[in-house]
Amino acid sequence: MNKVAIRVPFVDLNLQHQPIQNQIEQAVKGVLNKGDFILGKAVADFEAAFAAASGTEYGVGVASGTDAIALGLQACNIGVGDEVILPANTFVATLIGVLRVGAKPILVDCDPQTALIDLEAAAQVVTSHTKAIIPVHLYGQMVSPKQLLDFAATHKLLIFEDAAQAHLAEREGYRAGSVGIAAAFSFYPSKNLGAFGDGGMLVTKDLDVAQKMVRLRNYGAAQKYVHVESGTNSRLDTLQAAVLLAKLPYLLQWNCDRNSIAQQYDIELAPLASAGIILIQNQSGTGHVYHLYVIKIDDACSLERQQIQDKLTAAGIQTGIHYPIPCHLQPAFTYLGYQQGDFPQAEKLAKQILSLPMYPGLGSSQIKEVVAEITVMISGEQQQLLYI
Ligand SMILES: *Cc1c(COP(=O)(O)O)cnc(C)c1O
Repeated sequence: MNKVAIRVPFVDLNLQHQPIQNQIEQAVKGVLNKGDFILGKAVADFEAAFAAASGTEYGVGVASGTDAIALGLQACNIGVGDEVILPANTFVATLIGVLRVGAKPILVDCDPQTALIDLEAAAQVVTSHTKAIIPVHLYGQMVSPKQLLDFAATHKLLIFEDAAQAHLAEREGYRAGSVGIAAAFSFYPSKNLGAFGDGGMLVTKDLDVAQKMVRLRNYGAAQKYVHVESGTNSRLDTLQAAVLLAKLPYLLQWNCDRNSIAQQYDIELAPLASAGIILIQNQSGTGHVYHLYVIKIDDACSLERQQIQDKLTAAGIQTGIHYPIPCHLQPAFTYLGYQQGDFPQAEKLAKQILSLPMYPGLGSSQIKEVVAEITVMISGEQQQLLYI
């Protein structure tokens, strides 16, 4: 196979880490010297700092974002007999978290303009068993806090945010993680704030939820060898917490960079709207932290999404699809009884979306290159059609 030289990678973490390598090395060395590898000082320090940055009270570090969802739901006393509403177009971990606590997932469709959960569709599926809604702040854009709070008040539901893609995102004066009873974050390396491995956190304003979460991540222990809960082992490593704490002061700037990059993409891609390249709507301005920059390739386009992705790959431009198969059509979950056609907007998005390179440090000339490639391939195709 011919290996194409990568001109624009999908993500480049080195650009982020090199300028602060010294701080990160010092942080890691500090842990090595102290040897407090499990629930050490950096964990508590990072929990407090990240919770405060997210506009909430308590943070409880865990091993992954998936555990933050599953254990977090358990900490909020959501479980067997409860129904939980979530969008069909999310990363599968949201659904896995609900299933792990034994609650019944109720999937709903999304708004095709923003790709965020459709709250009108959510209102249709509320029953007397519904306990919570999980808004997923997808791609880095928050679901409207005002609409969420209204919805939750009307239907007497808990809001449990999946903020795994939305570190420090803002909308209507709320930070991601500060809207509901609790919120789950992921520190997977490529997230807006990423560790050097796996990590996650539950944030909450509720002391009871925080205290239960502290027990759940540590075998359900209220004190050493006294187990009051059926917990597990899911702690954020001190080493990872130290790295995250060293990176946290730069997060706002990195998010700012992502937002500017998105604005440039928006401007440069705008002329392609009539050619079927459609932007996902940003309804939160600079509060959108663009974990991903996603476009839609609709029926008006002369090329299929797959063709565009292949041509970009051949040109050395890496892209992604988030996500190609909505949750309800995943082979593992056919037993839930959903079918093709149940969530038309989510299904259509899965076929049309394409995530373009997005990371702090992505240069203006690289953005131009990406857009130029797309422009040429689309207009080239149109010209060919004219000659037929
Ligand atoms: C990344 C992600 C998760 C899972 O986090 P992990 O740390 O990978 O377990 C959950 N939900 C969403 C929306 C995500 O993007």
